[in-house]
Amino acid sequence: MNRKETIEALQLDDFTSFYNKANEIRKIEKGDDVFIRAIIEFSSYCKMPCKYCGLNRKNESAIRYRMDADEIVDIAKDAIAAGYRTMVLQGGEDPMFADGEILLRAIHGIKSIDSDVAVTLSAGELKRDVLKKLKDGGANRYLLRHETTDEKLYEFLHPGHKLKDRIRVLHDLKELGYETGSGFMVGLPNQSVESLANDLLQLTEIPCDMAGIGPYISHPDTELSGNENGSVELTRRCVSLARILLPKANLPVTTAVGVLSPEERLKTFSNGANVIMRKVNPKKYKDAYKIYPAELDETDIVKERIELENMIRSLGRVPV
Ligand code: SF4
Repeated sequence: MNRKETIEALQLDDFTSFYNKANEIRKIEKGDDVFIRAIIEFSSYCKMPCKYCGLNRKNESAIRYRMDADEIVDIAKDAIAAGYRTMVLQGGEDPMFADGEILLRAIHGIKSIDSDVAVTLSAGELKRDVLKKLKDGGANRYLLRHETTDEKLYEFLHPGHKLKDRIRVLHDLKELGYETGSGFMVGLPNQSVESLANDLLQLTEIPCDMAGIGPYISHPDTELSGNENGSVELTRRCVSLARILLPKANLPVTTAVGVLSPEERLKTFSNGANVIMRKVNPKKYKDAYKIYPAELDETDIVKERIELENMIRSLGRVPV
């Protein structure tokens, strides 16, 4: 699909044929498997000023914590015992993690439990030499969402930061051999349908191996407080188009979709998605790591994993 076709598709009254096509492509390219990933949020400190995010450096009411490598590995150990085979180590852009040393020790610790467990990193715009060190140290994948390709909007949302720098890091990741994930938010203030089409095409330009596409959710302690949340239906359209544009990509149903609408989460699996991620941190950390407001229950990691597998089976799919 070219840009014009993508823009037209996003605006259709009836999107059914695209939903069906995306589901068909998902079945051919990815089968019925749904990959379940564990997310370990290792730090809620962040030096970035992202106006939509509850962890931005200006938010004085955010609860800050950071883990050391041993704590990350201990949580990963429990997740591996519960059946998880991919650990997503995610955090704010915490200067303590900028040289990669803590993450490197965490990767080694996780790989020493089971060398086949994949490690995905999501730690912001790290320097190329740090990314190389982490890749050489065993990291498999990296997630860095571009959030929006509208340069003006990007600079408004991230004062002092440029879209081109983020795109350069995405190219660095590809060149270094990472499975590279990007993605964007749907429903940002002043975001046009044309810019959403560009966001989708940007994924093909990298090209991305994974893409996280989620609705914007307003956080009360940010500058964008009071703005409307993004549409979950428009988000689902974007996931379907991402499946058509990138047939082999891994496309999660993002946590943000599930927070706004549990029903929409199920529908997205039938319209192109093949991945789900689940936070495995203890509740005290889940409560602190608030990019957007979400109430998460205290649940037993094993019980939660079983519930997730049952949900996937109820959709006629296979939990992996
Ligand atoms: S979106 Fe990420 S980089 Fe931006 S403030 Fe939040 S945690 Fe930091």
